[in-house]
Amino acid sequence: MFYIGNHLSASKGYLAMGKQAVKLGGNVFAFFTRNPRGGKAKEINEADVTDFLAFAKEHGFGTLVAHAPYTMNLCAAKDSVREFSVEMIEDDLRRMEYTPGNYYNFHPGSHVGQGAEKGIEMIADALNHVLSKEQTTIVLLETMAGKGSEIGRNFEELREIIDRVELSEKLGVCFDTCHVWDGGYDIVNDLDGVLNEFDKVIGLERLCAVHFNDSMNGCGSHKDRHQKIGEGSIGMEAMKRVALHPSLAGKPFILETPNEDEGYAKEIAMIKEWTEEI
Ligand code: FE
Ligand code: FE
Ligand code: ZN
Repeated sequence: MFYIGNHLSASKGYLAMGKQAVKLGGNVFAFFTRNPRGGKAKEINEADVTDFLAFAKEHGFGTLVAHAPYTMNLCAAKDSVREFSVEMIEDDLRRMEYTPGNYYNFHPGSHVGQGAEKGIEMIADALNHVLSKEQTTIVLLETMAGKGSEIGRNFEELREIIDRVELSEKLGVCFDTCHVWDGGYDIVNDLDGVLNEFDKVIGLERLCAVHFNDSMNGCGSHKDRHQKIGEGSIGMEAMKRVALHPSLAGKPFILETPNEDEGYAKEIAMIKEWTEEI
């Protein structure tokens, strides 16, 4: 089964997101657990969750990919920001358990001048504090473009975090095509080589989800500007090869392209067509 969808607004609840996903032609989706710029999360409506779970089952939905707010930085230099971030992920993981067995993706963090080693240590410490044996949610580290002082600019940095986390069976990776490309991995000319490298450094069994985006900039640019599928520097043919790569089969593909509903519906239809060709 091919799972494709986009980022939806959580403001009207889970069932509304499920219906919106189906309306756009999708069978999975991503959502921010709270305002992406931070702030307090809405409490979960249990009746809405129950309705959604039935709806998702009926429509054969794939694993959801929740996204942490951008303001969360587990390796912030300021204690207050870091502590607030830990509270945020703790609360998000508690609420994720209402919809068991899904993914919670986050940007590892920005070390803001403290150095990557220090940042990696702080992120791992935070994860060791918040992960629990009982949780059913898998927490995903997102591959980053390496903008500013972002941690996760290469596969090795993600590996170093995973290595320091006790309950590492609760961790996976979200492969963002725009970020990986901007980070310097040539998925246009050597997709197999990049995935082999991922396998060697992290292990393909950790690759749980794909953020499916074209990029406005070149390989190694470290910019992180997403583009519509086929309209960027990765291009249609290379994006298609990613979608159809056997190592990525069955993973949720999430569009984070600069689109309105109509554009998303078109991209979803196009990608579904690719997968039906084979
Ligand atoms: Fe992201
Ligand atoms: Fe992303
Ligand atoms: Zn991005």
